[in-house]
Amino acid sequence: MPETTTRPAVLILLGPPGAGKGTQARMLEEAFGLIQLSTGDLLRAAVAARTPAGLAAKSVMEAGGLVSDEIVLAILKDRLTQPDTARGVILDGFPRTPGQARALDELLTGQGMAIGAAVSMEVDDAAMVARVSGRFTCGDCGEGYHDQFKQPREEGVCDKCGGTAFKRRADDNAETVEARLKAYHDQTAPLVAYYAARGVLQTVDGMGAIPAIAGELGAIVKQVTG
Ligand code: ADP
Ligand code: ADP
Ligand code: ZN
Repeated sequence: MPETTTRPAVLILLGPPGAGKGTQARMLEEAFGLIQLSTGDLLRAAVAARTPAGLAAKSVMEAGGLVSDEIVLAILKDRLTQPDTARGVILDGFPRTPGQARALDELLTGQGMAIGAAVSMEVDDAAMVARVSGRFTCGDCGEGYHDQFKQPREEGVCDKCGGTAFKRRADDNAETVEARLKAYHDQTAPLVAYYAARGVLQTVDGMGAIPAIAGELGAIVKQVTG
């Protein structure tokens, strides 16, 4: 039997850079009280804090490659074993390799958790460069924006917290995006078949509007937790 009725919910968002994983994970966190667990955010925090893992990851991230499974798994495990994740988690940007997917299975079994759904956000590669190149976030609360597709209601002011300091990621440039898309197709895309075989795969059209995708994902969360 597929593990679709087991609680608490573990939802995996699968998709290339710019697919909208982070945007949707934040919305699901707000709507359902699930915890967003982004390995990209955790790695950027490690880089900023100059931890040994962060120092090892920095140049790989700048080049658009994938950080080693060993480093990512250590960081993920640290976060996943904190008590707040017992309510359920949205994995944003993890797993990204078959090795990570297998390690996740083991880790979840040990935690008494199971995957409710792995959602593949299907998008056109051609649109991803524009998505990533126009991305920026609030420096205070982390809310995500886009130069064309999701502008703050008042220019220069965060809708969520009123902050006025915004930042852009060093790896969000056209050259690095190509490397990141290649890493996605070579190493992460095979996970779609992995989760299909496990009976937990769902797909959404990631080219739609942000609220429409949020509606579809919300229905999936209700289905796996309800
Ligand atoms: P990911 O976490 O998958 O890399 P993000 O959620 O950060 O992607 O989204 C990438 C950029 O595209 C952000 O600037 C975001 O505001 C914007 N964006 C997200 N979803 C959509 C969408 N459905 N349509 C248009 N732009 C989007
Ligand atoms: P995006 O969704 O735009 O691809 P992320 O914030 O998820 O960006 O990841 C940024 C970078 O962090 C990746 O290009 C990669 O170098 C590293 N990274 C994040 N998650 C993982 C992971 N699960 N495995 C390996 N590297 C990762
Ligand atoms: Zn803000």
